[in-house]
Amino acid sequence: MAHDPISDAVLQLLKSHDPDAAWALQREQDRQDHTIELIASENHVSAPVMHAMGTCLTNKYAEGYPGARYYGGCKYHDQAEDLARDRAKQLFGCRFANVQPHSGAQANAAAFLATLAPGDTFCSLTLSDGGHLSHGLKVNMSGKWFNPVFYPLHADPSHPEFERIDYDAVRTVCMEHKPKLLMCGYSAYPREIDFAKFRAIADECGALLMADIAHIAGLVAAGIHPSPFPHAHIVTTTTHKTLRGPRGGLILTDDEDIAKKIDRAVFPGMQGGPLMHIILAKAIAFAEALKPEFKDYAKRVVTNAQALASALASHGYRITSGGTDNHLMLVDLSARDADLTGADAEVWLEAAGIITNKNGVPNDPRPPRVTSGLRLGSPATTTRGFATDEMKQIAQWIERVLEAKGDESVCNAVQSEVQSLCERFPLYSSTAHA
Ligand SMILES: *Cc1c(COP(=O)(O)O)cnc(C)c1O
Repeated sequence: MAHDPISDAVLQLLKSHDPDAAWALQREQDRQDHTIELIASENHVSAPVMHAMGTCLTNKYAEGYPGARYYGGCKYHDQAEDLARDRAKQLFGCRFANVQPHSGAQANAAAFLATLAPGDTFCSLTLSDGGHLSHGLKVNMSGKWFNPVFYPLHADPSHPEFERIDYDAVRTVCMEHKPKLLMCGYSAYPREIDFAKFRAIADECGALLMADIAHIAGLVAAGIHPSPFPHAHIVTTTTHKTLRGPRGGLILTDDEDIAKKIDRAVFPGMQGGPLMHIILAKAIAFAEALKPEFKDYAKRVVTNAQALASALASHGYRITSGGTDNHLMLVDLSARDADLTGADAEVWLEAAGIITNKNGVPNDPRPPRVTSGLRLGSPATTTRGFATDEMKQIAQWIERVLEAKGDESVCNAVQSEVQSLCERFPLYSSTAHA
């Protein structure tokens, strides 16, 4: 079985040096090798990206930006960061990139710091309809220090746009509240986003448009989902979801004035020293995403998600909005079985080696710790090499486990079949990441 090479090397070092840490690493490596990863926000980075994160660039302070650092000895760090910035700009077709945010939430916070004052109003999707916690959750900084107002998805089941963005509602909320910032881009939205429509509304109400493409960045980079450019004033993203890079954040813009504000907001506004080893890994991941093979990967991600969604629908599950245009789907379990909760399904499927997350569906009557839904995605399984046949097989396993309500012997039987499939598609084999 092919293991990821750097974890293998680290394990050898740790076995005598720190057996407790070695144990955790080894078990996690085994878990990833032998389970099916359906969490829509996860992926498996390439070996070069994985290696870059464990390099000597972590030893260096490089506060500031290329050519303007607060520490000596940064010339190779300047080169690494310039590589990452230039490749990010090329990949997304824009003029300015800040590659320093430690994560997607940090990128969003920096964008807020650059464009809003405390108490200012911004507008985003109702969080329980698929938004991210950094878009105005009460206990998050975005909801504590700013004034979020929300637009809902279409809630009328008889409407053809049911559970899709209601652009009329976006406009109504924006014209009433006159936000300074209008946000689009989500954590659990399976459909295409019309950035031009959002920009027209932003212009009408006098807001800047911010697109958080954390989930769909890889599809955007590959040209499979429309680009937020030239419509959005600010684009934020993670680098570790469909983009398949290291865990981190990224901010993009075409506006020079906004770019300056963003740079100041990231450092010194929000962060201290950048994670230069991660920035090197971002540069490598961006170069990978620029290759023609990545376009093919992104296409297969969508084909696989659609195959999984339609196979589940054929087993009686309701897919919100009737399907998916991207890498993820929301499965409303209550249509299959009114008593089935997302929380139970997540635990039962994990016992069978299928890793998912419970997720509220739009207007879910159950609370977030229970939910009536599962969010499933195809980025990680596609990296592994699964195609539509494997996705249909997964749908069948999901149905078996949930039909049996997590019965132990059924879970064990499915788990051993899952393990054999995983062994046929080893991570970090020559075909993964192609
Ligand atoms: C995942 C996600 C983020 C935040 O990413 P972290 O790296 O976990 O901070 C931000 N926005 C959206 C829409 C996301 O889905």
